[in-house]
Amino acid sequence: MSESANPEKALIITLDGPAGSGKSTVARLLAKRLGLEFLDTGAMYRGLAAAAIDAGIDPGEDEAGVVNVAITYPIRFDWTADPPRLKVGGRDLTHRLRDPDTTGHVSHVASMPEVRRVLVEAQRRIGREHQRLVTEGRDQGSVVFPQAQAKFYMDASADVRAKRRVEQLEAAGRVAKHSVVLAQIIDRDHRDTTREDGPLICPEDAERLDTSGMSLEAVVDHLEARVRERVGQQQAERDGGAGVDGASGGTAEDVLKSEVTERSV
Ligand code: C5P
Repeated sequence: MSESANPEKALIITLDGPAGSGKSTVARLLAKRLGLEFLDTGAMYRGLAAAAIDAGIDPGEDEAGVVNVAITYPIRFDWTADPPRLKVGGRDLTHRLRDPDTTGHVSHVASMPEVRRVLVEAQRRIGREHQRLVTEGRDQGSVVFPQAQAKFYMDASADVRAKRRVEQLEAAGRVAKHSVVLAQIIDRDHRDTTREDGPLICPEDAERLDTSGMSLEAVVDHLEARVRERVGQQQAERDGGAGVDGASGGTAEDVLKSEVTERSV
């Protein structure tokens, strides 16, 4: 069940960045460490692309068809699963999210303004229902949750990102060629950064982190420390100027602990 709206208790952390920057894995681990929920917004665009393809629509040819699917098929996560599973129009499409046809069409689908309108609205609704959230995507800090308490932008060289994606695909039993994955990543980067609506940008108030030479563990450690620091600072400001060392009232620990006990399951 979800919580009722209470802006005082909301804690939204956004993680944006290009394809293969490791956001999903990092966001999931960070959410676990902090006792928050995790929203993979790329899965929503992927699910919609897969649903359109499965309905016989060619996303490259039929924008109206894709928009119709976006409007008529509800996109829902099953929050009882870990990670949450994705249903589009009542069908569980989790297994389709990383298929090559889905990946091949997703950034095209994501460049359709009406699709973005529908999914941004759906993400804000999720943010109201799940107020303690690590959310990752391309526009989470810039468009969807500009009020987020902590914003990060994760980057890495295209070559490193392609290498990571290949490893991920191989771990899932897929055959993947570095040169092909690299070309797809460069293509998706181009589409994601040049579209008119909700392009991939580093929000001004986000911390940029180049993860090219960092291990997964080091990235999560860094982000966790930064979030705790920020939450502590914000709590201290609310308490009227106390330091982040917990001299009075609001330490990051207190805030995060209370959030763990109060968060929805
Ligand atoms: O993060 P992931 O690779 O799963 O995202 C798939 C695609 O969905 C991206 O290439 C991008 O085109 C689109 N996307 C988006 N806005 C988001 C999340 C994903 O446009 N917030």
